[in-house]
Amino acid sequence: MPVSDDLRRKPASVKIHLSSGAGVDIAWADGHSSHFDFVYLRDHCPCATCNDERAKKESLADSSAAFRSSPSLPMFKPKPRAQSAEAVGQYAIRISFSDGHSTGIYSYDLLRSICPCASCSSPTQ
Ligand SMILES: [Zn+2]
Ligand SMILES: [Zn+2]
Repeated sequence: MPVSDDLRRKPASVKIHLSSGAGVDIAWADGHSSHFDFVYLRDHCPCATCNDERAKKESLADSSAAFRSSPSLPMFKPKPRAQSAEAVGQYAIRISFSDGHSTGIYSYDLLRSICPCASCSSPTQ
């Protein structure tokens, strides 16, 4: 049977490792599994504020394309951790981060599309 899109977006099990800070593990209904660090999720926060910030960063990166080859300066930034997480209906999880940010709602659809594993992050075209 062909794997439907539905199964790709449907989690069979979701484990959120809050106390250890290890991140989120999702086993998908189609047999795939994903691991997300909280830092990764914070970076990919889908809320409007973070979308704006990412857009700004991208335009900055464009204007300084000549410097792109130089390594970015190390900056001290505490790693965000998750303080709490809750399910939002059947379709998403909401995570409150230690930096006070809690407006990001991560739909399983989004999570599947940002799966950081080697087979998902390699270009398919
Ligand atoms: Zn956000
Ligand atoms: Zn994957």
